[in-house]
Amino acid sequence: MINFTVGPVMSSDAVRAIGAEQVPYFRTSEFSELMLENEQLVKKFAHASKNSRVVFLTCSGSGGMEAAIMNCLTKQDKALVVNGGSFGERFVELLTLHEIPFAEIKLEHGKALKPEHLASYEGGGYTAFLLQKHETSTGVHYDINMVSDFCKRNGCFLIVDAISSFLCDPFDMDALGAGVMITGSQKALACPPGIAIMALAPSALKRIENAKCCCQYLDLKLALKNQERGQTPWTPAVGVLRQINARLKEIDAEGGDSAEIARTACLADYFRNKIKQFDLPFEIISESLSNAVTPLHPTTQSAFEIFLKLKDEYGIWICPNGGDMKDKVFRVGHIGCLTENDYDKLIEAFVDLQKRGVI
Ligand SMILES: *Cc1c(COP(=O)(O)O)cnc(C)c1O
Repeated sequence: MINFTVGPVMSSDAVRAIGAEQVPYFRTSEFSELMLENEQLVKKFAHASKNSRVVFLTCSGSGGMEAAIMNCLTKQDKALVVNGGSFGERFVELLTLHEIPFAEIKLEHGKALKPEHLASYEGGGYTAFLLQKHETSTGVHYDINMVSDFCKRNGCFLIVDAISSFLCDPFDMDALGAGVMITGSQKALACPPGIAIMALAPSALKRIENAKCCCQYLDLKLALKNQERGQTPWTPAVGVLRQINARLKEIDAEGGDSAEIARTACLADYFRNKIKQFDLPFEIISESLSNAVTPLHPTTQSAFEIFLKLKDEYGIWICPNGGDMKDKVFRVGHIGCLTENDYDKLIEAFVDLQKRGVI
């Protein structure tokens, strides 16, 4: 199988080997040390300020999104949220559920965020801003510098869902003045699912300290207190945290976040050039691409049919879309343990489908 989806993705041999080992007991100094190392490496790769903290929650990325809202926002906030696809929609649903007042910037699928979208909210008394750095469902990479400038001018607390963007596109948490950065174990970290990671700037730590979280399991006060000694309040996904440790050290040894971002960008370019070179009947639908994924609209066949054919007849997984994008869009990911050779095989399969008259 070759997996070009956007998570879970292909893991390195070292990460997979850990998955085959017995899961150790975790209230030990060895595990604490590993967790403190995980915190330091995530801080380093996120370019978080010295006094920032990192916590590891046993839940998927969405749990991190909900924890951010429950622990950092209150009914006194007035939030602004960008909704350009299914993950932006999830923030909207969470703000509604937790009764945080908000306004929504709704974007058409595939469209970039532009200054005119923000202009009417300028000076509007907004206290928080939530967005995906990369809206994975449509493959749109937002202009985070523009959002950061808006937040600095307007005094907004910035919550960034970087779940599919961390280690794929440049991200400097400190320079952006972001309060929260969220990612997950099964995207570019290329580990099994199960862990949400949150980097928290001092501004977030202050909000967490002052807010009352109405959920014990996702209470970040408890997570932060325990992580001071490299522990978690509850039994975490110990095996996945050990795999994350191996992966973070692998990335560090190979040149850190910038080298990993460059590697991902090369694979994305390689694939996008091949699509053109072979004149395949696919259109790139995003106005602003992330290195993490290429969203494609096939002009001659249903996107979902192509996904099924590749999976069932070629052992290749591209990423299908849901809802009203199901037949219009499929995505090809560039995260995980992939090589140019894997893309050659994908292109070969596309060319074969074309020869067979399927596309
Ligand atoms: C994958 C993803 C999520 C959701 O993560 P889960 O681990 O499926 O809960 C949220 N936001 C973005 C941008 C994502 O790519």
